[in-house]
Amino acid sequence: MSDFNEEPVPGSDSDGFPVPTATLPDPAAVREEMLKIYPSKTLKKRSKQMLVNDPSAPPEIGANTRTVPGIITQRGCTYAGCRGVVIGPIHDILHITHGPIGCGYYSWLTRRNLAQQRPDQPINFLQYAMSTDMMESEIIFGGEKKLAAAIREAYEIFKPKAIAVYATCPVGLIGDDIHSVCREAKKELGINVFGFSCEGYKGVSQSAGHHIANNGVFKHMVGLLDEPDPEPFRINVLGEYNIGGDAWAIDTLLKKCGIHVTATLSGDVTYDQICKCHTADLNVVMCHRSINYMAEMMETKYGVPWIKVNFIGAEQSAKSLRKIAAYFQDKQLTDRVEEVIAQEMAELRPVIADVKTRCEGKTAAMFVGGSRAHHYQHLFKDIGMLTVAAGYEFAHRDDYEGRDVLPSIKIDADSRNIEELEVEADPEKFQARKTPEQLAALEAGGFSFKDYEGMMREMRKETLIIDDISHHEIEKLIELYKPDIIGSGIKDKFVIEKFGVPCKQLHSYDYGGPYAAFTGAANFYKEVDRMINTKVWQLVTPSWKKPADPAHTFGRGIDNPANKAIRELIAGQAKVKKPAKAAPAADAPCGE
Ligand code: SF4
Repeated sequence: MSDFNEEPVPGSDSDGFPVPTATLPDPAAVREEMLKIYPSKTLKKRSKQMLVNDPSAPPEIGANTRTVPGIITQRGCTYAGCRGVVIGPIHDILHITHGPIGCGYYSWLTRRNLAQQRPDQPINFLQYAMSTDMMESEIIFGGEKKLAAAIREAYEIFKPKAIAVYATCPVGLIGDDIHSVCREAKKELGINVFGFSCEGYKGVSQSAGHHIANNGVFKHMVGLLDEPDPEPFRINVLGEYNIGGDAWAIDTLLKKCGIHVTATLSGDVTYDQICKCHTADLNVVMCHRSINYMAEMMETKYGVPWIKVNFIGAEQSAKSLRKIAAYFQDKQLTDRVEEVIAQEMAELRPVIADVKTRCEGKTAAMFVGGSRAHHYQHLFKDIGMLTVAAGYEFAHRDDYEGRDVLPSIKIDADSRNIEELEVEADPEKFQARKTPEQLAALEAGGFSFKDYEGMMREMRKETLIIDDISHHEIEKLIELYKPDIIGSGIKDKFVIEKFGVPCKQLHSYDYGGPYAAFTGAANFYKEVDRMINTKVWQLVTPSWKKPADPAHTFGRGIDNPANKAIRELIAGQAKVKKPAKAAPAADAPCGE
């Protein structure tokens, strides 16, 4: 029994997971099948990144390690994580990418972070993509002058409150000092100008960029405005980027309950909102991976505690609202939250009942993000669908196994590349939000702060967990599991669909959304229903069902019988035969 289902759910197993209508393969055998193609060194590495789940004692997973060269990964670069994910959605500051124009792809918000102009702030710069467009001469003689000129020019045209500058790989390689250029510009223009050394090579994935972005936002924005919003129950929503309007759906829901959002980091947020976010009473964290650093630093410096929430999925939204209300220990707020949950669930139940008639017992797999592959499982579960395999692109071990493994995570050379800020309590601005007695009462009632149990503890036993999945592994997964839908990113979306499986793009939502909160959940259920049950997939013949065409050696992937020689070469079973040296032609000139 729950808000969600008025009666115990039929079609669930003893642990409450949906029962699939199809027989599932043995996950250990699937894992072996995926791994067997790899040469020994790669096999050793990938073995640690592919596990069969045990939620009661999650096995240690290899995560946040370098992708093996040659494997087709879905990861992005550090610059993409910093500029593209965390800071890019701040819509009233200018973002200038210092680098060649190619990197500028990520300077145009491809993730569909939506933003609205405010009546008092009629500015939205999100549609602009700004790059210094470094050319050969700047690579040879340095690009600092060009950057200074670009900042000046951008300021003259737009007169923004702040300008952020992002260094890409070539900038780091030639040693341009973007920070001194920013300091000079700050003095000259009288606005906040700051830089991010987020060169693409700084880390193993976009995750390093998230950390760099957190550090920069904390150093250069948070704490600049001390006037709190007048509303009670003030929170910040961290790690919510307003893809397809998710932050708006969450904000609307919170407003109905009487909870005020000071700032969302960083979906549809203004510079001023971020500058005063340290005045909120509580931080609630959506995407743990991309922003847990900020939550920790704000707690240490300003005394703002944080809790993990999830507004993806109806049950999870209700749980998150109750957790926020419990934190404030206010009877009126708690009652209002219960009323809102009851109203929202009353509207949602008929949608779920209808969608379930067509989706119950179907299966999903998800390989995306640092939290999304976890969060979206709840939406599938709501409509009776089982997630049979999942993994992240750029997560760390704690996102899989829970934060209690943090002390055992080894810091490697790649992680050491990223600055760890030394943060202390601010002598003037630190303010404990709860008395020790209030904290003790909350914890005695089962309330937990800064906890995240990770994805594996919430997944069914015997599901397959794959970190940084490759295209080869996705192909095998489709062949052996035959999932009804896969949630993934743009880099593999069309690979998946060519195999006759619908793919819900969970980075930018294709053209859909919002999917957060109760209203968003309804959108997701209906869309998944349409995607899975359309007949178009019956018209696609997966490549493994087609006869091999020896004329196209790569036509059916590495398993193609025609690719035997390549397989043997990769597996180290064959040696490259050097071509026999041809005897020099009698009339060849000397030395040829
Ligand atoms: S990896 Fe480097 S060169 Fe490539 S897009 Fe990222 S910053 Fe630019």
